[in-house]
Amino acid sequence: NLARLMPELYVPIKTQNGELIGTILLGEKLSRQPYDLEDRRLLYTVSHQISVTLENARLYRGAVHARENLEAWLNGMDDGVIISGRDCRIEFVNKAAAQDFGISIGDEYPAILGERDVQPEHYITQQDRPIDECVSRCAINFGDREFDVVAAPLSNADGSMSTIEVFRDITERKRAELEKKELEQKAQLSDRMASIGEMASGIAHEINNPLTGVIGFSQLLLEKGVPEDIRKDLEIIHDGSQRVAGIVKGLLTFARQHKAERTYLNINQIVEDTVSLRAYALETSNVNVTSVIAPDLPCTMADAGQLQQVFMNIIVNAEMEMKKAYGRGKLTIKTEQIENRIRISFTDDGPGIAKENLSKVFDPFFTTKDVGVGTGLGLSLSHGIITEHSGRIYAESEEGNGATFIIELPVVAEEKEEELNGPADEPVQAVAARILIVDDEPAILEFLSHMLSVEGHQVETVDNSDDALEMIRSRRYSLILSDIKLPGMSGIELYQHINKIAPSLTKRIVFITGDVNGTNTKKFLTESKVPYITKPFDIKQLKGELNKIINRYR
Ligand code: ADP
Repeated sequence: NLARLMPELYVPIKTQNGELIGTILLGEKLSRQPYDLEDRRLLYTVSHQISVTLENARLYRGAVHARENLEAWLNGMDDGVIISGRDCRIEFVNKAAAQDFGISIGDEYPAILGERDVQPEHYITQQDRPIDECVSRCAINFGDREFDVVAAPLSNADGSMSTIEVFRDITERKRAELEKKELEQKAQLSDRMASIGEMASGIAHEINNPLTGVIGFSQLLLEKGVPEDIRKDLEIIHDGSQRVAGIVKGLLTFARQHKAERTYLNINQIVEDTVSLRAYALETSNVNVTSVIAPDLPCTMADAGQLQQVFMNIIVNAEMEMKKAYGRGKLTIKTEQIENRIRISFTDDGPGIAKENLSKVFDPFFTTKDVGVGTGLGLSLSHGIITEHSGRIYAESEEGNGATFIIELPVVAEEKEEELNGPADEPVQAVAARILIVDDEPAILEFLSHMLSVEGHQVETVDNSDDALEMIRSRRYSLILSDIKLPGMSGIELYQHINKIAPSLTKRIVFITGDVNGTNTKKFLTESKVPYITKPFDIKQLKGELNKIINRYR
């Protein structure tokens, strides 16, 4: 096409690497002279100049385009980006940083963002170091948010240096990490509680069997009208074994293996009762107690004894800490309703709890008290009890500024239970009945058969389920008293067998157990509604319960 213009001369315009980017076309000279060597040289110089200029223009366009691209890319980032110069002026700020920090180009660099260990200027003064060595990281706080900052030097075209910083908002991540850590700690704590609980329940179980015999026989003898001097010794045996039963019950509470006796109660009343129980000791320790009680606090379902134990533990801890530190103290107990929860808080002005101990005080065996004074079980026990009540217990404290223990319990509507194991009624005299006792503990078999024979019943005993089943097949019993934990076939399996051969007979079964809350046992007892009595038991309670059943199904 160019040939049609009939040019006299073509002068190519090429880039440095030989790429053709244009051509200068020259027509015939006015003088009609041909182009000589001089002309050609001049033309090549001009072509070279044009090429350089065009190349520069192209590069500039490319640079502008690249910068526009980069800005668009930086503006699309969730992280904030700031480029600032030596004069601490902002040269560039992306959308995220402009929004997060309320700054724009030309502003002075906000002082609050510069509050950190390593200053951005640090890199600028070290231009001779390789760039990756100059990159630094730090965390800064801005308002209630936390940012992870990466800063690096940036060299400008004019040889000056700026600093580029990328701000990543890590508030959420940190919060999630904290939440995860708390959850892990909770899981660890309940793990530890569970294993200690298991051990405690094992021990309690072993003690309960022989203890039932000791309590039972001493009670039986006491009822017999023995001579006065023997009676005194017997009372000591009886009281001692009752105390052991109390300790075992405590262990089982810890293991959460005891049957909580929930009633519909007013927490204010329990707070009041606990304080008055401890009033004397508090007074002698110079502890002044102020109660801020919500008068319209709703009632809830809870175990009064257990809650009293928790409150008492917190009160005694506060009293001891205040007394030890200052010889006196002030304890404020507050009850209030918050939405559907009841909050009870105990605030003391004692020495408080060191930050590193705050998360440990509910750990089993954690104590700062001297050997022999503290066991470190009080608060972990309380934790178990409150968790069992679907509540929450936690502590807030600043070392040197007292401590607050807070308990939150759900408000639970009144539930009325048909309670076999409730407080014993007056014993009902039963008519003579044939009773089968299944238990592998000789002391219990002997005690029960003795006690029930004295009552006029015809008693048979057996120490395993297989033989029990044989006896049940061949004879009719008014009542079957069975342990749950038996060698070989368990009490529950025995129940299921009886249910197959004579379903009506299952109504005459009563379990005697030291292990109500084992997962399977609990599920079974709840579903089947089989009545049960927990070891060690009181003769009066046992007689009452048994006679009720014998009379009911005669
Ligand atoms: P113990 O009382 O046997 O040490 P706890 O589980 O009841 O066991 O308490 C554990 C620890 O918690 C105490 O040893 C003490 O360090 C700390 N603690 C409990 N209550 C307070 C309080 N009111 N002020 C300061 N520290 C406390």
